[in-house]
Amino acid sequence: MIRMAGVDKHFGELHVLRDIDLEVAPGQVVVVLGPSGSGKSTLCRTINRLEPVDNGVIEVDGKALPAEGKDLAKLRADVGMVFQSFNLFAHKTILENVTLAPIKVRRTGKADAEKRALELLERVGIANQRDKYPAQLSGGQQQRAAIARALAMRPKVMLFDEPTSALDPEMVNEVLDVMTGLAKEGMTMLVVTHEMGFARRAANRVIFMSDGEIVEDSTPDDFFSNPTSDRAKDFLGKIL
Ligand code: ATP
Ligand code: MG
Repeated sequence: MIRMAGVDKHFGELHVLRDIDLEVAPGQVVVVLGPSGSGKSTLCRTINRLEPVDNGVIEVDGKALPAEGKDLAKLRADVGMVFQSFNLFAHKTILENVTLAPIKVRRTGKADAEKRALELLERVGIANQRDKYPAQLSGGQQQRAAIARALAMRPKVMLFDEPTSALDPEMVNEVLDVMTGLAKEGMTMLVVTHEMGFARRAANRVIFMSDGEIVEDSTPDDFFSNPTSDRAKDFLGKIL
């Protein structure tokens, strides 16, 4: 579903992605771990071309990433992204946040878009908040709205970059539960997170990054019980 081959990315002198090869099969749930600055966010952002790459190939569902234009908009629509900061449109209601892109990009009719949006808001447990504005919701509710908004585009892949890092502890689980549900339903997911419980419970694969490289690629069980590289051992020693 996602294929990266020989991907390199620099920020000036800094080599942030080094010859990345990564294939994610349909339905796979991949958790990305690694120390701060190792390139996790950059990896996510290259997949929907929020960041251009210097070298290499990136494909989503067999299609290479176009540089720009209409094709890029279409591809972005196939790749849902949820960030640490919820990035909802502040001056639109929750329902409008979820219907906006389907109406504008997918040309869905308003009634159909609203019907689908309500189903998604129901599913993430905030249908009763639909007429409020983002600032009137808790962080956990806003993040669930952001997930519903991404799902409204019927993406083929969902990318999550530390979706619970900005939340108060008591709201973390309500977001992780929604993500676990998505994983169980077979969504292809790439998730940067420090939530090791989620990695063990919901992921079928863990990749560990260090200095712009994928250093380990294994099952959660193997990664946590039997890391092979010193860098991963050191990382796990600090967080577990
Ligand atoms: P964290 O766990 O702190 O979120 P990360 O693994 O997500 O870290 P990235 O955000 O991908 O790391 O950053 C990788 C490296 O690239 C870091 O050294 C960072 O300072 C640098 N970097 C990221 N974005 C930019 C940018 N727009 N311009 C210049 N340097 C950048
Ligand atoms: Mg990051």
